[in-house]
Amino acid sequence: MTLSERDHSVVWHPFTQHKTSSMQTPIVRGEGAYLIDENNNRILDLISSWWVNLHGHAHPEIAKAIYTQAMQLEHTVFSGFTHEPAIQLAEQLLEILPPAFSKIFYTDNGSTAVESALKIAYQYWHNRGEKKRQRFIGFKNGYHGDTFGAMSVGKKSGFFAPYEDLFFSVDFFSYPSTWTNDSAVEKKEQAVLTELDQHLKLYADETAAMILEPLVQGAGGMQMCRPEFLQQLEQLVRSHGVLIIYDEVMTGFGRTGEYFACLKANTTPDIICLSKGITGGFLPLAVTACQEFIYQGFLSDSIGTALLHGHSYTAHPIGCAAALASLKILKSPEVARQQKMIENTHRVALSELRDTVDQQRYCGTIAAFNLKMSPTYGSNVSEKLRKQLLKKGLLLRPLGNVIYFLPPYCISEADLKNAYAILIEEIQGVTA
Ligand code: PMP
Repeated sequence: MTLSERDHSVVWHPFTQHKTSSMQTPIVRGEGAYLIDENNNRILDLISSWWVNLHGHAHPEIAKAIYTQAMQLEHTVFSGFTHEPAIQLAEQLLEILPPAFSKIFYTDNGSTAVESALKIAYQYWHNRGEKKRQRFIGFKNGYHGDTFGAMSVGKKSGFFAPYEDLFFSVDFFSYPSTWTNDSAVEKKEQAVLTELDQHLKLYADETAAMILEPLVQGAGGMQMCRPEFLQQLEQLVRSHGVLIIYDEVMTGFGRTGEYFACLKANTTPDIICLSKGITGGFLPLAVTACQEFIYQGFLSDSIGTALLHGHSYTAHPIGCAAALASLKILKSPEVARQQKMIENTHRVALSELRDTVDQQRYCGTIAAFNLKMSPTYGSNVSEKLRKQLLKKGLLLRPLGNVIYFLPPYCISEADLKNAYAILIEEIQGVTA
């Protein structure tokens, strides 16, 4: 049996309709921006493998840090005990997060970083005796993960229909998506802010927090908003005394051109969720970072006001070691140069696509546009395009009619330009 056949007989894959999907492609090696399959075909990873990889596959420095840590301490209970990699990583993250942040709570994936943030926000008010605050606010198309809290605030992403009866109360608003030369952007932003203001006037004292993906909504279709909008939003939500959670699971660690989207937008939420790029794509790890006043809200003489939440692999020492190695690379001038090169290549390529596609947009190293067709998720045209591109050695996963690039920072300029050239040719083929 081939690897694909063995896989088919025993593995259940995520986001996959196994009745109609084709066989899974076995990957045997990774090298820089490339994945290499069992037939030695090189596939250019233009989506950083589910948006996790930062510096390339099988990066030797991160691999070495993992080996060294594994030989010293692979795991320990993290309640009553601690370890150097977790302490160092928290210190280093706090150095690059906005100055108001002072505490790092560890978990192990994006969903649990969000789940913790929602629980922290909820219990913060509960501990203060404000037990009426049972509502949350989210954005339509926002995606925050697959656990129940994360699904509740991501209800409008379109992924969770079977579970909707089990969700808690969330009020949703439109994300003022924008793109290059969008003349209606300010009108869209003002409409959302006005609607939200009216809502908060009625429900602020029943609301624990607002959660959003700052600057770029990922799974909802790489929808982008302006820093100006986030600044006004922050002012408004704060004036009503509601907490703000930024889900930077995807935007964190340089994707937007700054370490974090909050820095790029010049805004300071109360809680930030990070995962994906944190270990450079090597190991599962996540953090929920908090401002000091949030942490203080859990202190008392009673265990009942503590955050009684944690996971077996919390603050995994090997994950923390990988994260420290990845952060070191992220801070290098070479990565900053590469991020600028990627942004510039996106800008030029998108302008060349001008009439072929709709809603060209980019934010740092992330670029997206819409195919001129109906926006059905998994539609035939984008699935056909995905397969054609894979045959040409490019890994892209359209989100409905949205094509996006989110490459690792190590990608070469020539490879990225070539990918755009192939994509343009293929788009003409499938939409003609
Ligand atoms: N938040 C955002 C913004 C995400 O993009 C994702 C994953 N796509 C998650 C949360 C959930 O992360 P995970 O898949 O690691 O649970």
